[in-house]
Amino acid sequence: MGDAEKLNMPRDVVIGAGVGGLCAAIALALAGRDVTVIEAQTHLGGKIRSLPSDAGPVDTGPTVLTMPDVFETLFARAGAKLADYATLIPQPILARHFWQGGAQLDLFTDTAANADAIGRFAGALAARDYLRFDRLTRAMYDAFNVPMMRAGKPKLGAIALAAAKRPAIWPALLPHMTLTRWLAGQFSDPRLIQLFGRYATYVGGAPQKSPAVLALIWQAEAAGVWAVQGGMAALAAALVRLARERGVQFRCGIAAQHINVQNGRVAAVQLADGSEIMARSVIFNGDPAALTTGLFGQMAQGAVRQSATQPRSLSANVWAFAAQINPDAPDLIHHNVFFGGNPAQDFGAIARGRIARDPTLYICAQDRSSGDTPMTIERFEIIMNAASLQVGIPLNPHETDQCQTEMLTQLSRFNLHFQTPPPRAALTTPQGWETLFPASMGAIYGRSPQSLLAPMLRPTAQTRIKGLYLAGGGVHPGAGVPMAALSGQHAAAAILTAPISL
Ligand SMILES: Cc1cc2nc3c(=O)[nH]c(=O)nc-3n(C[C@H](O)[C@H](O)[C@H](O)COP(=O)(O)OP(=O)(O)OC[C@H]3O[C@@H](n4cnc5c(N)ncnc54)[C@H](O)[C@@H]3O)c2cc1C
Repeated sequence: MGDAEKLNMPRDVVIGAGVGGLCAAIALALAGRDVTVIEAQTHLGGKIRSLPSDAGPVDTGPTVLTMPDVFETLFARAGAKLADYATLIPQPILARHFWQGGAQLDLFTDTAANADAIGRFAGALAARDYLRFDRLTRAMYDAFNVPMMRAGKPKLGAIALAAAKRPAIWPALLPHMTLTRWLAGQFSDPRLIQLFGRYATYVGGAPQKSPAVLALIWQAEAAGVWAVQGGMAALAAALVRLARERGVQFRCGIAAQHINVQNGRVAAVQLADGSEIMARSVIFNGDPAALTTGLFGQMAQGAVRQSATQPRSLSANVWAFAAQINPDAPDLIHHNVFFGGNPAQDFGAIARGRIARDPTLYICAQDRSSGDTPMTIERFEIIMNAASLQVGIPLNPHETDQCQTEMLTQLSRFNLHFQTPPPRAALTTPQGWETLFPASMGAIYGRSPQSLLAPMLRPTAQTRIKGLYLAGGGVHPGAGVPMAALSGQHAAAAILTAPISL
């Protein structure tokens, strides 16, 4: 069959080239399927995205790469080596944490090194607290890793069994046990409650409202954090290269507009230019809320329950820019956290949809991933948590200025100053995320994780419509880069094992 004829045959269509879509496309191509990826934007990678700056492209999406084995395994399945496509740089310090008044704490992959550091930071009792916390979160991680995080859908029986075998973690699984409350029982030093509570934000939850079990995210980070040479965009580029080499075709800069369903089964995808691609199956890698809100037509609207996408997770105000900092600024590493003086106030304001005063800020100093200290301009990504548009209202120009003022004022309390402040184009607001990722309401992690049942409520790869599947951070086991990658592979597996319909 010639190439032109082949293009007219029904194929697997992946809508969206986020990490989930790219991994799904690769997995399908490896099984010998014809795959076309449709991407609305001109860049491939979705939230793995960068903005131009005077020092080169600067990441404006994810920066903390954990669980690289997920990618190494996919490349190995393709007979390739991730190391030949992207250079991952292990970070000797997971993150450097700063508090107002000068206190500072580094955390590592090594438990004993952490206990030492915490002992020096907050005393012997705090070090003992940490060791118990580390044991408990390890037990949670071991209980949920395989039946929940790595599985295509949560395996309730296996989860219950795994939890039943570990009585020490039962208090953390009580229905109304929030992360903050549980941490308050683990640590006497409030700064450590604040630090380990922050991990809820990795999946878009506030620690005061999220289930205690999210404490296990610490273990994903404690297993190691990697930077990618050239920024996270280089990881997306590696996936795109592998996909192309394995025969995946891409159409970029054109949105899929409608999913045609015939006799209860997907039949085609209609693009914004009116053209149609016949589909054997479709994987939707955008926010699943785009389906439930009807963006792809009435037929596709019932594919997913609305409760699988609502309420929304947190959003963020994110700056990506290059600047020179003052020579006597705090000693930054790749990942840095500057804590607000009052965490309840931080998330309290966000819960009301307001900009936090005295906010906690995360800074990725992208050019420091190899331990260098640039003496001139360097690239920064700064993240300030924010409410999704479901809770908040789009920032007006005055509030955008206020948001930036809060960020700069907060950093000046830590003696961190930028010679030139970020230009307005450097800031992506919740409204900006909504524009980039339609129907997300600016939420960057899909459905809110703020309920013990949230992992069971998220959509899985399978939808109610035959031939229509989901992949990405809004789908089990999302969110986060490795989780979205896993969800893509689950979607491909669901297609490959689906009964053949005539
Ligand atoms: C600021 C920020 C910081 C983050 N930090 C981290 C971190 O440090 N570590 C981590 O692991 N995770 C982090 N995350 C989360 C992580 O980036 C996401 O969970 C993951 O990248 C989502 O991948 P995805 O597969 O859901 O696709 P997405 O990245 O959501 O991409 C979906 C793609 O689908 C496309 N699309 C949507 N609709 C259509 C349509 N109709 N037609 C064609 N294309 C369409 C979009 O244009 C987009 O390219 C962060 C996210 C953000 C925004």
